[in-house]
This record gives sequence, C-alpha cells and structure tokens, in this order.
Amino acid sequence: MLKLLLLVLAAWLIIGILKHRRTSTHRAPPAEKSANMVRCDICGVHLPESEAILSNRLHYCCEAHFLQRKQE
Ligand SMILES: [Zn+2]
Repeated sequence: MLKLLLLVLAAWLIIGILKHRRTSTHRAPPAEKSANMVRCDICGVHLPESEAILSNRLHYCCEAHFLQRKQE
C-alpha cells in the first residue's frame, strides 16, 4: 500500500514539474517581436539588430556584405 502511495506521489511530482516547465517556456516573450529591426546596407534585407554586424553606424546582414563594403 505504501509503495502505491509513493508511486502516486512520484507521478504527481513529475506531472507538476512538466506542467511548470511548459508554462514557464510558454511565458517567455518571443525575442524577434521585441527586437529592433535594422536594414543591411548592401542588400537591404531587414534583420534583428542583435544579429546584424554593425560598422560605422551601418548594419550588415552577414560578414560577406560587411567585407564587401570594406573593400569598396
Ligand atoms: Zn546583406
């Protein structure tokens, strides 16, 4: 009988932890929505500022475009 009680308690704890994890990940705000969007100076693509390469107050979507501007 005690074993059954412990088993039920363990299952209840596991379910509680899983539910808590699901709600905490659900609550996390999407990073892209709040991110400041910037425009690549070479190709004009818009991307989050955190992902862009910043040089001389200009943004680039990738290293290739950053280097392209440097060579000009
Ligand atoms: Zn670009």
